[in-house]
Amino acid sequence: IVRMQGLNKHFGELHVLKEVDLEVTPGEVVVVIGASGSGKSTLIRCINGLEEFQQGELEVDGNRLEPHGKSGKALQKIRTEVGMVFQQFNLFPHLSVLDNVTLAPMKVRGWSRDDAEENARRLLDRVDIADQADKYPTQLSGGQQQRVALARALAMEPRLMLFDEPTSALDPEMIGEVLDAMRELAKEGMTMVIVTHEMGFAREVADRIIFIHKGAIEEQGPPEKLFDNPQNERTQSFLSRVL
Ligand code: ATP
Ligand code: MG
Repeated sequence: IVRMQGLNKHFGELHVLKEVDLEVTPGEVVVVIGASGSGKSTLIRCINGLEEFQQGELEVDGNRLEPHGKSGKALQKIRTEVGMVFQQFNLFPHLSVLDNVTLAPMKVRGWSRDDAEENARRLLDRVDIADQADKYPTQLSGGQQQRVALARALAMEPRLMLFDEPTSALDPEMIGEVLDAMRELAKEGMTMVIVTHEMGFAREVADRIIFIHKGAIEEQGPPEKLFDNPQNERTQSFLSRVL
């Protein structure tokens, strides 16, 4: 569903992504790990066109993203087909939980309010937060807000979900509930690309781990292999610091 080839991305003088090749197949769960500043966020932001790249090929669910942000229609399509959950929950503060989840399906997909609400309530129930539907984001804990963000992304029936450190801004006691919701989603077969520092979770849900160092993929493989028997010196050194 994602095919990235020879992708290069610069921020001015800074070469942030270097010849990155990445394929993600439907149903696959890919976890991206690496040091701060290695380019993890930039990589996944390229996948839904939040960042432009300068060189390379990128296709997401059959839509081709062009270098230098010249994608037009394909970009719009990708935005509706790819869901994203960020470190900061980014909920609309002036909307209730329910309205946060119904807004995009009504506006972008043209669903009726009734259909959008029925779907929203089902999704809120799925992330265990149905009883909070009429509250506003500021009245919720971080873990609850993040689960609303997940429900909101799922309301668009995405073909692919991207997560950028979804638990990094949470108090420790709330991390588990968000990871549980993500674990469920993975079990149901959602295709996911996840940036996280939760190595236990990564080992458990990932089909494949990608280690990125200074903008290049240094090593990748199934979790058992990458965590227990890393081949690359840089992977070994990174893991020895975080495991
Ligand atoms: P972290 O683990 O801290 O979130 P990361 O691996 O996600 O790090 P990125 O955010 O992708 O790293 O950043 C990669 C590099 O690009 C860093 O050196 C960062 O300073 C730089 N960078 C990121 N965004 C911008 C921007 N908008 N303009 C200029 N440089 C940027
Ligand atoms: Mg980041």
